[in-house]
Amino acid sequence: MEEVQAFVALGSKKAGTAETERAARWIQARLISLGLSARIDSFTNDTPLGPLVFRNVLVSLPGATPDLFVLGAHYDTKSGIEGFVGANDSGSGVGVLIELARVLTVIPSDRRPTVLLAFFDGEECRVEYGPNDGLHGSRQLAAQLRADAEQVPVRAVVIADMVGDRDLTLTLPRNSSPLLMQAIFAAAERQGIRSYIHLAEGAVLDDHVPFLDAGFPAIDLIDFHYGSEPDLNEYWHTTQDTLDKLSADSLELTGRLILTFLLQP
Ligand SMILES: [Zn+2]
Repeated sequence: MEEVQAFVALGSKKAGTAETERAARWIQARLISLGLSARIDSFTNDTPLGPLVFRNVLVSLPGATPDLFVLGAHYDTKSGIEGFVGANDSGSGVGVLIELARVLTVIPSDRRPTVLLAFFDGEECRVEYGPNDGLHGSRQLAAQLRADAEQVPVRAVVIADMVGDRDLTLTLPRNSSPLLMQAIFAAAERQGIRSYIHLAEGAVLDDHVPFLDAGFPAIDLIDFHYGSEPDLNEYWHTTQDTLDKLSADSLELTGRLILTFLLQP
């Protein structure tokens, strides 16, 4: 939660701007302070606003498996909403990933799989989702991993997005890989948190989609019931997405779920 608070305090992070550049450097510095060699992958994409530079923050944790587990979260925040804070979307995913980085570094490398942590720029569209708008960071990494897949196979891609709601319900989008959904349900069962995980009614367009399109197993841990009532989502993409809606317990639940999955896939 402290990571989320500090990240949110940086302010707005509109995709492909100096704001995300600053946020990327902040994430990189946090990871470096954990003793990790985090790198920034900068790339230019055409967008409806013209060419923009996007930045993914990446950190590799070599482990016992030859193949790779990718944990991803976007760090940009929705543009065009005056006063938008983005505590849950994107602060929660960033906080969980930084904490997972810390936890993974204290597990001996022969007792954990090989992990790539990825913080994506440009998940949010600037105008309207399409081939040139939104999901920039995940598309970039999916293409890079596809090019390397002969040498480094990808076992699973797990995305965390909007995972801090006090009233947490992870609503797994239908367009997640069935085997990964089973594995996540099994991990939740082992943690005694099965009741927090539901199947969503339909598909969701999020950072897992470019990985699915590239042929990788991928799942999106997202709580799309982010509102004042269990079935409402009215805090999403509004000025109500603030830190008081989150809880450290929910962030921990998500982190433990991912860790349980990683250590016993
Ligand atoms: Zn969003």
